[in-house]
Amino acid sequence: MYEDALKRLDSIVKKAQTAAKMTFPKEAIDILRYPRRVHSVNFSVRTSKGLQVVNAYRVQHNDALGPTKGGLRFHPSVDLEEVKALAFWMTFKNALLGLPFGGAKGGIAIDAKSYTVQDIELISREFMRQMHPYLGPRRDIPAPDMYTNAQIMGYMADEYYKITGEILPAVITGKPLGIGGSEGRSYSTALGGYHVLKEACSRLSLPGRRVVIQGFGNAGYHMARLLQEDGYTIIAVADSKGAVCHEKGIDVASLHAHKTEHGSVLGFSDASEIRLDDLLKIKTDVLILAALQDAITVRNVADVDARLIVELANGPITFAADEVLHQKGTIVLPDLLANAGGVTVSYFEWVQNLSGEVWDEQVVLTKLKARMLHVLEHLWDAYVDKYQLDFRTSAYLKALTTLATAQKERGWY
Ligand code: GLU
Repeated sequence: MYEDALKRLDSIVKKAQTAAKMTFPKEAIDILRYPRRVHSVNFSVRTSKGLQVVNAYRVQHNDALGPTKGGLRFHPSVDLEEVKALAFWMTFKNALLGLPFGGAKGGIAIDAKSYTVQDIELISREFMRQMHPYLGPRRDIPAPDMYTNAQIMGYMADEYYKITGEILPAVITGKPLGIGGSEGRSYSTALGGYHVLKEACSRLSLPGRRVVIQGFGNAGYHMARLLQEDGYTIIAVADSKGAVCHEKGIDVASLHAHKTEHGSVLGFSDASEIRLDDLLKIKTDVLILAALQDAITVRNVADVDARLIVELANGPITFAADEVLHQKGTIVLPDLLANAGGVTVSYFEWVQNLSGEVWDEQVVLTKLKARMLHVLEHLWDAYVDKYQLDFRTSAYLKALTTLATAQKERGWY
């Protein structure tokens, strides 16, 4: 994954030269090729399954713009390469959004679903005990990601306070509302994506309203909900276990209730089951990728039949598959922009925690919408239209410009 991320970076730097006559100092790019710090720890925890050895990582990729920031995921496939790539993308995402943060990511290689709530608390607290010297409101600020949630952030915040003796809520974002979490944070990833999707559809005059969604966790569910409330038809939804489809539309609230009760979309009575692989082949106006990385690769890209793809997940389209989609004329709203609503509201949470303010939900939502649309409009005018570039290349160029300037101003090259 990290190799793939670097390949994409090189290709974008080249494209910038040919298409936009933009050049970046080699030193600025070289600094971005390597993570600044990599923390890898292994610890044992007495869980209900017995003594478990847990592998965990935190990668602080680049801090030119400020303390590093990024989520923390629980997934059995987590490894150092994956966390490095995810941290790399956070550096670019935060720069693109104009946030005063560098990029980081963390991962704990466990199958969260196989543990009890108490086990998860033990693992979360132990992770914080191991990592606390490297974290802090002015160092590195974690947040939720795949299979982590507000409660887990709450345990980690509490452990940090116990170790340091100071109540510093800004050490972690995505916390529960009662202990310094921000209004709107729980659905902000989807809402940010929804705003850019709506704006893109209207500027491109895309009339279609058929939607296919891969992933029905926090981001996928809220996106499905927002789109249905807006009159879109959700024709197919997949989670990690299977996929369901109904040409006339799936009721999102009922499907969500079914998943909450049964742990999967499978078995939902108002839709028919389809193969996971077939989901991406459905002809659709909008395809939302809200599951794992590498969902679309050279292996399946030829079958994808969507006009617009929104990357709510991080890295769901590989570098090679991206080129094919571009040639097919599929518009991709890239992860750096489409899922940045999450970290943007995390930033608002951090600001509230540091200032002691508490903002109303409407204040947060208004600020989120304004920032998402401002970034999209800037990309469109300054890159997409001006140089005939795709959104991903444009997003990287904007981020690279910000990062190269900050690195220069810090005297790094
Ligand atoms: N995990 C989210 C992401 O990938 C949010 C990170 C954050 O809020 O710091 O962008």
